[in-house]
Amino acid sequence: MLREAWMRSARAIATLAVAVVCLVATNAFVRSPHATVSADDIAARAHKLHFSTYVIDTHDDTTQRFLSKSGFDLSKRYSDGSIDIPRMREGGMNGIFFSIWIDGKIMGPEAIRQALDQIDLVRTNVAKYPKDIVLCRTSEDVRRAHAENKIAALMGVEGGHMIGNDIHIVNIFADLGVRYMTLSHFYNTEWSDSSTDKPAHNGLTDFGKEVVREMNRDGIMVDISHVSDKTFYDALEVSKAPLIASHSSCRAICDHVRDMSDDMIKALAAKGGVIQINYEKSFIDQAYKDAYAKASGGVVQHLDELKKKCGDDGECFEREMKKDEEKLIAEGKLPHVTWEKVIEHIDHAVKLVGADHVGLGSDFDGANMPEGLEDASKLPKITEALMRKGYSDADIRKILGENTLRVMAAAEKVSAEMKAQNP
Ligand SMILES: [Zn+2]
Repeated sequence: MLREAWMRSARAIATLAVAVVCLVATNAFVRSPHATVSADDIAARAHKLHFSTYVIDTHDDTTQRFLSKSGFDLSKRYSDGSIDIPRMREGGMNGIFFSIWIDGKIMGPEAIRQALDQIDLVRTNVAKYPKDIVLCRTSEDVRRAHAENKIAALMGVEGGHMIGNDIHIVNIFADLGVRYMTLSHFYNTEWSDSSTDKPAHNGLTDFGKEVVREMNRDGIMVDISHVSDKTFYDALEVSKAPLIASHSSCRAICDHVRDMSDDMIKALAAKGGVIQINYEKSFIDQAYKDAYAKASGGVVQHLDELKKKCGDDGECFEREMKKDEEKLIAEGKLPHVTWEKVIEHIDHAVKLVGADHVGLGSDFDGANMPEGLEDASKLPKITEALMRKGYSDADIRKILGENTLRVMAAAEKVSAEMKAQNP
């Protein structure tokens, strides 16, 4: 939806002159013509592995579709967007974090009200299909859902502005089932700096640190996607539980402020955290990011025009953005980006910190997906590609979902300990 479009607008405004390090796509996972038998064997093994394990995506903006006036039905197979129950089933995706998101400029009581509305929308839409999908609060709930062949639905609040500067709202979010909160979104909150805004607080304020501790106490995972580097390091220092980056990729491959530097990934991993790789084209491909910045010189004005045209109709915004992008690609102004780029990011992070600290955070229904990974039905490709690269079954399982469950369990343990110490 329009949120990652905001990123693109930020990129156009803030010319971040940093050295370009864009790795050339490796073709290691392309099927060798000389290995047909073993290749087929790998395809079968990968399929079996993929459909027998946890496949959990930590960031999906499908919630915005629940707001649509046309009436989005999670149980129907759509030809647009990326997420619905049929395509999740087809792609073996059995865990999803629905993102609760509102524009970062909305603050105070109105922000809380809109966040609560969206939480209610997720809960009621999930409750319509109890045979297929069930709201989960804990890692144990997710395991139970999997055992019952149901999709585990979870929630993440994308932006600390939605607590309206009231720490008690953190407790209410937790009670309603929110399992992570991103400390900021596109703009700074009044207590945390964002990666796409001018630094105002030098990271987290004292209140911001209090928010992190309260999240620990409630078992809400601390999400550092979108935050400034300083906010990340502050949160890492304060949090008693491991952090997640719910939807960020690797700066070493695509130099974007929304991505994480190698040093940050190492620091995150050293404290048990996980980087959940984002599939957004401008976060994974340097050539695309640079070309988009060049082609969309008037992007701010253009976004304003779209906002006027579409109002608060997110689907209209998404459709118009897509149309513009397709036009730019057809005119040769934007390069094609294919799904293998996502594998490069996974592999980079795994080589850097090991398979225990990497996962999937697509940004489906909220960003521009690469060719070949347009929706949840395409996910088995990731498993097959990693297997072709020689990844062990155990490592693939961790990346697909077990790492997320491990961090959830760690957050639950910290919560139980803090509550026991100070009821
Ligand atoms: Zn985002």
